[in-house]
Amino acid sequence: MSWRDNLIKIEPYVAGEQPNKTDFIKLNANENPYPPSPRAIAAIRGYNAENLKKYPSANAVPLVNAIAKREGLQPENVFAGNGTDDVLSLCFRAFFNSDKPIIFPDITYSFNTVWCDILNIPYKTIPVDKNFSIDPADYARPNGGVVIANPNAPTSIGRGLDFIRAILDSNRDSVVIVDEAYVDFGGVTAVPLLKEYDNLVITRTFSKSRSMAGMRLGWAMGGKEVISAIYATKDSMNSYPVDSIAQAAGVASIEDEEYFQATLKRVIATRGRLTAELRSMGFLLPDSQTNFVFASHPRYSAKDIFEFLKTRDIYVRWFNKPRIDNYLRITVGTDGETDMLVSALKEVMNLWN
Ligand SMILES: *Cc1c(COP(=O)(O)O)cnc(C)c1O
Repeated sequence: MSWRDNLIKIEPYVAGEQPNKTDFIKLNANENPYPPSPRAIAAIRGYNAENLKKYPSANAVPLVNAIAKREGLQPENVFAGNGTDDVLSLCFRAFFNSDKPIIFPDITYSFNTVWCDILNIPYKTIPVDKNFSIDPADYARPNGGVVIANPNAPTSIGRGLDFIRAILDSNRDSVVIVDEAYVDFGGVTAVPLLKEYDNLVITRTFSKSRSMAGMRLGWAMGGKEVISAIYATKDSMNSYPVDSIAQAAGVASIEDEEYFQATLKRVIATRGRLTAELRSMGFLLPDSQTNFVFASHPRYSAKDIFEFLKTRDIYVRWFNKPRIDNYLRITVGTDGETDMLVSALKEVMNLWN
């Protein structure tokens, strides 16, 4: 036996590349191309740094209150953490303690399998169909929990309330997590179902629609019992997760509904343009309800396009994974970035024709 035998053996989540240069177009991590709300920026600039000598509000009370107010919930229905990834990992610990496997689609947010591996949670993935569609009937089977991203990533496909309701109806004895990281870009939120299902937990992030990926803020919404279980888990690991500056910036962002809506509108408009351009070049892609598109081309390999775009300093996401290795996940950037992407794609198609 060596200490090496006791080291963790795990294949970690791989984030989109962060090239070591400044002048490039980054469309590989679904970041928002626009800055955070000016009110959030002002909250950070105006933050009295002397206050940092004190611990933050342990349960991020001002932020939780602001989120509850916006979503029409009570503060006891909201938990805030350091990004959705932090919130989800607490949820996995808090809810998934069964011997039965938790279930989720084979093509979805790839952090799910990483958390299961590190937390020793048994899991089973359920194949989506050839159009990447999820059949709720597949989720009517014994399980230790259900995780659904809606809209789903990296497919960009969003489903309606009937879909979530069907999954909830066949899973009365499991916690069902609905990851709504992209819902603001045109998806349908499950928040109205919270009053009917006390086993439903919805997660959201500031990273995409609120342009604050660098701040690390996310939250969960659910009935009092499930939310209390997340607080208990947090308080068993790290009692003060969201720092004071992030809390202040988060409140300011949540309270600036007007800027939020205006930014969403811009991203959605550019997404429409990008979708049309890609289709006119022969790409196949579903209608996106997110801030990215998921595209493949019948004649050119996604990997080759991905590599070519890098030579033009344009970074998109390509997953070297079964079923999706001929697809590119492309974040919706500014109109200018979209123009440069489109002209690089036209260039390579000419080259390879
Ligand atoms: C980006 C993303 C998240 C996590 O976002 P954070 O930056 O950790 O808040 C969670 N789920 C999905 C599906 C995402 O795409």
